[in-house]
Amino acid sequence: MNSMKPTKQFGRKEGCLRCGRKRGMIRRYNIRLCRQCFRELAPDLGFKKYS
Ligand SMILES: [Zn+2]
Repeated sequence: MNSMKPTKQFGRKEGCLRCGRKRGMIRRYNIRLCRQCFRELAPDLGFKKYS
């Protein structure tokens, strides 16, 4: 009965909240957005232009 595998799959769904991509994620401001979405949403979030 050794068929029990440890399932460590919690917190593995880290991706952009908008597009779901995991590429170019920004963790600086404690947000889950990729750089592309961040650039578009930055003005709405109150951030200045991201250069
Ligand atoms: Zn995105």
